[in-house]
Amino acid sequence: MCGLTSMSISELAGLMEELGQPKFRARQVFEWISRGKRPQEMTNLPKELRDKLDTLHYGGASIYDKRVSAKDGTIKYLFQLEDGNIVEGVLMSYHYGNTMCISTQVGCRMGCAFCASTLEGCIRNLEAGEMLSFIACAEKDVPHGDDKKRTVTNIVLMGSGEPLDNYDEVVEFLRLVSAPEGMNISPRNISISTCGLVPQLMRFTKEAPHVTLSVSLHAPNDETRDKIMPINRKYRTAELLNAAKYYAEETGRRVIFEYALIKDVNSSERDAKELASRLKGINCHVNLIPLNHVEERHLTGVTRRDAEQFASWLQGYGTSATVRREMGSDIDGACGQLRRKTLQRERKAAKER
Ligand code: SAH
Repeated sequence: MCGLTSMSISELAGLMEELGQPKFRARQVFEWISRGKRPQEMTNLPKELRDKLDTLHYGGASIYDKRVSAKDGTIKYLFQLEDGNIVEGVLMSYHYGNTMCISTQVGCRMGCAFCASTLEGCIRNLEAGEMLSFIACAEKDVPHGDDKKRTVTNIVLMGSGEPLDNYDEVVEFLRLVSAPEGMNISPRNISISTCGLVPQLMRFTKEAPHVTLSVSLHAPNDETRDKIMPINRKYRTAELLNAAKYYAEETGRRVIFEYALIKDVNSSERDAKELASRLKGINCHVNLIPLNHVEERHLTGVTRRDAEQFASWLQGYGTSATVRREMGSDIDGACGQLRRKTLQRERKAAKER
């Protein structure tokens, strides 16, 4: 059976029926779960039901470690799952609210050459309720102040893992997190980032048209993308750009292309020119970010100034582009870095014991 945290109100209603409880209890349980509460903390339920729920699989997360950026207040969390695995999440504060970045898998199997999340492959998919639980944990850690309001207003699925490689759980998560009886976060305030699983992307466009789409492009052509993103050998840039265009046309929403600038790989004026010409006719925006250095990888980022230069080349060719503000760079903010360092430290300590 899936964990309690992964159950929708109607699934909980079925469970209540099985337990001989009135239907309205389902909604109460769902509300408590969205506040990160465990069965014994669900104080408006009869003791007997709390005890019964306590014997079932919960499927939640807890905060294992956290770091707060001295620069901008960004909080990087390591969450622990019930099987002992740990994954990252980040809470960032902006003028319009707080954005939570969550992981969708423990590790990742996409193998991008610049990314720390994928160094040890994918251990397992996350369940919808586990993803929900990361948000509840952060909200308990940083309460809103006003009980009726929520700390987290926006979500980005940009932590470890490839969301479209865990398609069903991600779509279920979107359903749970947007339910008005629970967290009530509108799909319009949710972004998903993919390295480009084309068939899943086409399906996603139909099933979740209100979610903002980011595509990790990182190269203007197949030759360069082949070198840094193995997925490109399966789905070529032409196919991926077509799928992105389809999303923009079907949904009327702008696609964001993520582009990490890597020294001597994808950051020349020729690259900018080619990128702009490939993106012509797609309603899009390019988000540039100087590559974050990952110790195990032999790729170097460009300077902030070079990134600004690349942005102005793109703009000169008529493509909308900005350099992304870096958040939490003093706390291993980049994908998979904090988790990896923690695992390495713990393995070393275990060896020394
Ligand atoms: N698997 C998804 C989402 C996770 S990664 C995807 O590929 O989109 C979120 C973003 O961070 C992606 O655009 C990814 O390519 C980028 N990224 C990973 N490692 C990075 C690094 N070292 N520097 C800059 N961006 C990086």
